[in-house]
Amino acid sequence: MSIAQEKLEQIRAQVRSHLDWRQSTELTAARKDALESTIRGHLKAQNAVIVAHYYTAPEIQALAEATGGCVSDSLEMARFGRDHNAETLIVAGVRFMGETAKILTPHKRVLMLTLEATCSLDEGCPIDEFSAFCDAHPDREVVVYANTSAAVKARADWVVTSSIALEVAEHLAAQDKPIIWAPDRHLGDYVQRESGADVLLWDGACIVHEEFKSRGIRDLKKVHPDAAVLVHPESPASVIEMADRVGSTTQIIRAACELPNKKFIVATDQGIFYKLQQAAPDKQFIVAPTAGKGATCRSCANCPWMAMNDLEAMAAVFDRDDNEIHVPPALADRAMQPLERMLAFAETLKP
Ligand code: SF4
Repeated sequence: MSIAQEKLEQIRAQVRSHLDWRQSTELTAARKDALESTIRGHLKAQNAVIVAHYYTAPEIQALAEATGGCVSDSLEMARFGRDHNAETLIVAGVRFMGETAKILTPHKRVLMLTLEATCSLDEGCPIDEFSAFCDAHPDREVVVYANTSAAVKARADWVVTSSIALEVAEHLAAQDKPIIWAPDRHLGDYVQRESGADVLLWDGACIVHEEFKSRGIRDLKKVHPDAAVLVHPESPASVIEMADRVGSTTQIIRAACELPNKKFIVATDQGIFYKLQQAAPDKQFIVAPTAGKGATCRSCANCPWMAMNDLEAMAAVFDRDDNEIHVPPALADRAMQPLERMLAFAETLKP
């Protein structure tokens, strides 16, 4: 078993325990109103704005929208946080998103609802092992996914998000540059197939997307033969093969609007259904089936770390002293370079 796989097994155990112990967080209407009112007061008093990911709970996304914040994928979150004039960014997502925001805007205060909200891709790519891996292949361009620590980004030549992963791989393939791709093996495998790039994969995976099963989707297609299948490229190849469209969260939302189908089977985190329903209210969205190694589903298309972002935690975000993101300046300077390369490259792709 590789180091990354070993680490992933430990993470799976932690997630199982987290899911087992997670209490129902159903709020009464009165409690929800009170929390939202507290949060609005804090945002105003602290000149703060909410930067939320598509995978967070609907009430978090709704509040971000209603208070002038943003709901988006990690690339747009990074851009929004950098360009907004708020002094404090409240990042509703997972830790690497907060780190990215801090790297891009070191003068701003970046708060997370909890620093425990991590990501199996980030956890499965420890800097020392990854650095040794890169050192063993010095002739390769190092491309890392945004879902990594600041230290791993600092070791990279390129950072990518799923919305431009393929374009960056094509760009490097056109220059005959061999690549190290980390940490997601499914996304790396997908860009390798699509771009023809020479890719050496790190062995990481997203614990949510790797649970989607092609057999389950095939069975669901029998019940809904008119449904188009939308798949995030962190999913296994057998699931990607069944897709009518493969893409990042933003690209999945766009596909739901563009395709003529009235029904969609969606292989990504269920949090995206809030925005899908908003973007295409006359269409029906069905979550793609998942299954763990045992009889029960481990995540049920719902990232356990994203689920830590709830209204109670948001209301308490200014009361804590253990939830601010700090990135050492020298590390941030180094990590900034591949991040800025990504943002500049993304600009060149705009129509
Ligand atoms: Fe990481 Fe997967 Fe959760 Fe996204 S859904 S934060 S990739 S574990």
